[in-house]
Amino acid sequence: MKSLKLFVPIILLAITFYYCSTVPITGRSQLNLISSADLNALSFQEYNEFLAQNNLSTDIQSTNMVKGVGLNIKSAVESYFKQHNLSDDLNGYAWEFNLIESPEVNAWCMPGGKVVVYTGILPVTQDVTGLAVVMGHEIAHAVAHHGAERMSQGLMQQLGGVALSVAIQNEPQTTQNIFMTAYGVGSTIGVMLPYSRTQESEADRLGLVFMAMAGYNPNAALDFWTRMSQSNTGGSPPEFLSTHPSYQTRIADLKSYMPEALQYYNK
Ligand SMILES: [Zn+2]
Repeated sequence: MKSLKLFVPIILLAITFYYCSTVPITGRSQLNLISSADLNALSFQEYNEFLAQNNLSTDIQSTNMVKGVGLNIKSAVESYFKQHNLSDDLNGYAWEFNLIESPEVNAWCMPGGKVVVYTGILPVTQDVTGLAVVMGHEIAHAVAHHGAERMSQGLMQQLGGVALSVAIQNEPQTTQNIFMTAYGVGSTIGVMLPYSRTQESEADRLGLVFMAMAGYNPNAALDFWTRMSQSNTGGSPPEFLSTHPSYQTRIADLKSYMPEALQYYNK
C-alpha cells in the first residue's frame, strides 16, 4: 500500500498533463479521463432509468415552458460553440428537457444534453426568465464538462484512474455511484458533492452568456439567486444550498460578469 501511495501523486501528475481539456469561454484547463462517447452512453442509460423511476409532471403549461426555454438555450449554446469553432464538442448530444413532479428544489443536466427540472424549483424561478437562469446554469455545468471532471476525480480516487469503459465493465455499481454523485442525481444530502467554487463560478458566467444569447435578460440572475437564498430549501440538494460560493460572493461575481453577458443580450 505504501508504494501505491507514493505512486498516486506521480500518476495523477502524468494524467493531469496528458488528459486535459479546456473549458469554453473561461479557458481553464481541467482533468478529463473520459471519452464523451463512453460518457454519453452511460448518461443516456441513466437518464432513461431516472425518467422511468420518476413521474413526469402532468402540468402541460409548465412542461412546455421547460421544453421551450431548454430549446432556446440549446440554440444559444450551439451558436456560441459554432462561433468559436467548438461544434465538435457537441457531437453526440441528444438534447432532452423534462419536468418531473417532485418537491425537491433541483435541476441538472447530464452529459449529452439530458436535462431534468423538478417542479419544486418552479416557485423560486417564478417565470421563463428565472427558469432560463437555472437551465442556463445547469447546461453550462454540462457543456463545461464539470460532471466529467468530477467523474474523473471519482474514478481516480475510487478505481485508480481506469478508463470509464473498463470501470463500467468491472465495477458497474461503483461506476454508477460515481456518476450519480458527479451529476447530482438523487436526493440524499451528504452523498452528493457540491460543485467546486471554480465550477460554480464558471457555470454562473457561462449560464449568463447562454441565457442572454437565448434572449432572456441576464439581470434576472441576481433576483433568482436572491430568492434562492431566501427560500426555505431544507431537504434540497447541495447544488442549490451549496455554501460555496456564498450568496454575497455569487452576487458580486454575477455583477462582474454582467457587462459581458449584456453584450450578447443587446445584440
Ligand atoms: Zn451549479
